[in-house]
Amino acid sequence: MSCPYCASDDGCEHLLLAADVAWGIFEAGELVPAIEECNEKLSAKYLESADDNFTAEVSKRLFQSILDLAASIADAEEKFDIHDRPGLSQAYRVFYCSSPQRVSDACDTFAQHCIDHVERQPFLAR
Ligand SMILES: [Zn+2]
Repeated sequence: MSCPYCASDDGCEHLLLAADVAWGIFEAGELVPAIEECNEKLSAKYLESADDNFTAEVSKRLFQSILDLAASIADAEEKFDIHDRPGLSQAYRVFYCSSPQRVSDACDTFAQHCIDHVERQPFLAR
């Protein structure tokens, strides 16, 4: 993985989000705190208690939905697969913005729209 703007391969200032799509994990990037905040709000709204978790199916759809939103606000996307160990393949989608200012704007946009975006999906019925 390397940044299309500065060729760094290790979390530069253009990195918006790195997601492991095989495992459904948001691994790195400026957007991660905003995603965590979004998840906390959704948990508070849709789960009975703080100890509850979304079902695996809902978690999967939630991940996909957040990934779609990140893709729509990023300036560039890289996809790559890692097959360095047998039976343990990883597939990443990595999103970048063209400047630190754009990264910051994207985080604001995400924070404004994430709840609405997710709630437009039909899987969150309570
Ligand atoms: Zn960069």
